[in-house]
Amino acid sequence: MALTGIQIFKLLPKTNCGECGVPTCLAFAMNLAAGKAELIACPHVSEEAKAQLEEASAPPIRPVTIGSGNRTLKVGGETVMFRHEKRFENPPGIALLISDTVDESEVNARLERFSQLQYERVGLTLRADLIAVKDESGDAGKFEALVNKVKQSSDCGIILMSTNPDILSAGLKACADRKPLLYAATKDNVEGVTSLAKENSCPVAVKGSDLDEVVELTTKVTEAGVNNILIDSGSRTLRRAFEDQIWIRSAALNNKFRLLGFPTIVFPGEMTDDPMKEAVFASVFVAKYGGIIVLSDLQGESLFPLLVERLNVYTDPQRPLATTQGIYEIGGPDENSPVLITTNFSLTYFLVSGYIETSKIPCYLLVMNTDGLSVMTAWAAGKFVADAIAPFVKKSGIADKVKHHKLVIPGHAAAESGGLEEELSDWEILVGPREGAHIPAYLKSWKP
Ligand code: SF4
Repeated sequence: MALTGIQIFKLLPKTNCGECGVPTCLAFAMNLAAGKAELIACPHVSEEAKAQLEEASAPPIRPVTIGSGNRTLKVGGETVMFRHEKRFENPPGIALLISDTVDESEVNARLERFSQLQYERVGLTLRADLIAVKDESGDAGKFEALVNKVKQSSDCGIILMSTNPDILSAGLKACADRKPLLYAATKDNVEGVTSLAKENSCPVAVKGSDLDEVVELTTKVTEAGVNNILIDSGSRTLRRAFEDQIWIRSAALNNKFRLLGFPTIVFPGEMTDDPMKEAVFASVFVAKYGGIIVLSDLQGESLFPLLVERLNVYTDPQRPLATTQGIYEIGGPDENSPVLITTNFSLTYFLVSGYIETSKIPCYLLVMNTDGLSVMTAWAAGKFVADAIAPFVKKSGIADKVKHHKLVIPGHAAAESGGLEEELSDWEILVGPREGAHIPAYLKSWKP
């Protein structure tokens, strides 16, 4: 049973030191009970109290990791129904399905697409995360060979898909060290698959025909000592699968029902034969509340929008994506190159740097920390004004890199030019364009 805020409060030090980010222990206790804070935020809680608080502080949806090394994927760990309540924690993994009945050239083509379809956006690499190897041949040797090939081709996480524990065991021979997800424990094989998961310390997915059967399965698997579980509710229509996602999340969060408190796995490709509909269905599960989304194939035109949707939904709404403050050299600038300044909102940085690259004129771009706010917002918030910009420019060291001492500020911060002329008396302040798209034309007329 989860503890109430008052029960949690009784276990806290009650010193109201504020180190957890809220002014009182009571406020922290209430946040903890509501799943809006993590116990680790209080450095003073005793070990004894920690043990008692574990239940209250554990996320209602258990976090589960798949894979090993750099590409370990963590899913679940969610604490809210809606992103605006706090944030969504761990983006769903996107998996590519490869069956052991497809011919070698198709396997190679899929592996090639898996590694090639990667996109850089706001400083992040967007790509699919997992390969799901599906046993359809019933041949353990064939399955093992394919798992081996997948393992050699990528360091990504692997999902082993079979209802036959012997075939899953063959797959594990090839990749147990990758800690693959075993899919799936059903009412007919739950003991065998759970033993494999336990012996190899791997996560396991349970598949029921409905949520009641899922609960029976999670009961058996957890009683056997395996807690890293994903849930396949068994629904294969969009409507039922969507409803199941909401039921599962709501049961775990609102009713503290631990037996459904696990991330889910969904198969939109088993809900339609139309690849574009599959992508649309997948997009529904990105928003609500897929833990792993297995796609029947990867194509850039459907994968990219899903990756961008995932990025957007799982960005912390209270913390904008930010770029590191500093001097960015674009195109190999020298002492006569233009110097521009902007804020560290990632999208602003990537747009401005992109337009500078397009101009083919080497530049220095000063990126100032404005807590991830865009130029207009940072200016309105008093974070991108002369008093703040001038000390940053002085400390940045840009004055030693150029002879001309001309600084181009964004058009939206034009009102700061007078103040900057005063604060940076040895610099000439130039007002650049308001729109990033006009930067290339502006730079072409720039003179040192
Ligand atoms: S850090 Fe711990 S002791 Fe300090 S106010 Fe927060 S809950 Fe209380």
